[in-house]
Amino acid sequence: MTEKYDVIVIGAGPAGYHAAIRAAQLGLKVVCIDKWINKQGEPAYGGTCLNVGCIPSKALLETTHKFVEASTEFEVLGIQAKGITIDVPTMIARKDKVVQNLTKGVAGLLKSNGVTMLDGAAKLNAARMVEVTLHDGSTQSLEGDNVIIATGSVPVAIPPCPLQEDLIVDSTGALDFQKVPKRLGVIGAGVIGLELGSVWNRLGSEVVVLEALEEFLPMADKQVARETGKLLKSQGMDIRLGTRVTGTEVKKNKVTVTYSNADGEKQETFDQLIVAVGRRPYTENLLSADSGVDLDERGFVYVNDLCSTNAPGVYAVGDVVRGPMLAHKGMEEGVMVAERIAGHKPLVNYDCVPSVIYTHPEVAWVGKTEQELKAAGESFKTGSFPMAASGRAMAANDTAGFIKVIADEHTDRILGIHMVGAHVSEIIAEAVIAMEFESSAEDLGLTMFAHPTLSESLHEAALAVSGHAIHIANSKRNRKK
Ligand code: FAD
Ligand code: AMP
Repeated sequence: MTEKYDVIVIGAGPAGYHAAIRAAQLGLKVVCIDKWINKQGEPAYGGTCLNVGCIPSKALLETTHKFVEASTEFEVLGIQAKGITIDVPTMIARKDKVVQNLTKGVAGLLKSNGVTMLDGAAKLNAARMVEVTLHDGSTQSLEGDNVIIATGSVPVAIPPCPLQEDLIVDSTGALDFQKVPKRLGVIGAGVIGLELGSVWNRLGSEVVVLEALEEFLPMADKQVARETGKLLKSQGMDIRLGTRVTGTEVKKNKVTVTYSNADGEKQETFDQLIVAVGRRPYTENLLSADSGVDLDERGFVYVNDLCSTNAPGVYAVGDVVRGPMLAHKGMEEGVMVAERIAGHKPLVNYDCVPSVIYTHPEVAWVGKTEQELKAAGESFKTGSFPMAASGRAMAANDTAGFIKVIADEHTDRILGIHMVGAHVSEIIAEAVIAMEFESSAEDLGLTMFAHPTLSESLHEAALAVSGHAIHIANSKRNRKK
């Protein structure tokens, strides 16, 4: 028998579960299908983000940051804490507990909103018919007035680096090391490579990051990328740019990596190797030949600005479609599609998607970079404020980094905000709100910020755009107006 639904959501990652819950809140009959089986062998919701992405990586980053603070910074603060050690299995077990609590929480949310959950693999056929193969091997046929594809992404595998249990791992394997590798290679200096490299570097691993590109963090503002590279190197990360990995060989429980750079071909041997060379959209066994859904040339499900595919009534959201592969971008797309199905008219503002790198210090930005604006021939002005001049940062003994506001030269409208510093993953929300409300730098400068906070640095950077920052020495720029 074919069961009919208003909305069928394929995938219960952040994009899919947001779509499902919002559609159910709006009174629609919703089913959500996911095939994830977790480490414990149970179905689990939350997709990559909760199971092997955002949340577990942040759990490990939090633990290891506290470890570094306790072992290297407490003494400066007058706290005696000698002989601090790390118990890796306990750290990993706590991370697993956080993941389990959250994935169960999502299951509870879906249930309490009346979303029907099916644990299995879905395939989309013609006319919004969906065939589900449940984990017990049985099948179920569904028909939807609307279908939302939210099948996410998986790590890219590259031929020179076939995964080998415990020795050559992708980001998922790197979340489960049971001891600190003495020498760790990381291929790819993208966000995931830097975050996971940081985790193990903080615990004493000698981390070498091999990156094919000549430029470090090319998507970030150049000044931010420079500062970040400098800070990570000062923490002991050996980041080698212009270094393309061409082969790996496993011998006696070690991995020898062959790479080429400007000096020719070289080799390095590591105890473990993380392959973090990006992620690709996941559509395996998802679409039948007559589903009517097209993929673009890079394998993403093709959608327009409203996340509609080429098949009527079929939408796609999250990592499986164009745009940054970020959980919050997928969540907003999921909500937008659910609301549009219910007859509302929301939009996603793709100009206001925040990016964060959860190293220490953290890196965050929203809007345009200086180099993008220069390339587009736009005239702009900037204001920067160093964290070293923030009273709160000094009180916290955490003064690395800066915040920069970029505003239109003529209208003063904020075009981009870029930051490196402690807790900027939180401060970036204030920047996003300002941009979402089309604030000028002056508007932000006229807004009252609590003192003493790290956020005040954003206030000061906004004031600095017109030379009025209070806590910057009376520079030529400050005297100008
Ligand atoms: P996914 O989370 O990948 O979920 C897709 C779901 O669809 C999965 O549960 C899968 O089982 C299911 N599925 C696929 N095909 C089928 C099918 N045919 N039938 C049934 N079910 C199916 N992003 C951030 O914003 N912040 C971060 O800090 C961050 N950190 C990350 C750290 C790491 C180590 C990694 C790997 C990723 C990180 N990301 C982060 C990226 C983030 O995880 C993704 O952007 C996000 O999970 C995408 O959500 P999604 O719902 O589109 O897809
Ligand atoms: P991201 O897609 O942001 O996660 O980053 C992945 C990074 O891996 C990119 O910066 C790529 O340039 C890099 N990369 C991909 N293949 C290789 C390779 N063979 N050797 C070194 N770096 C690579």
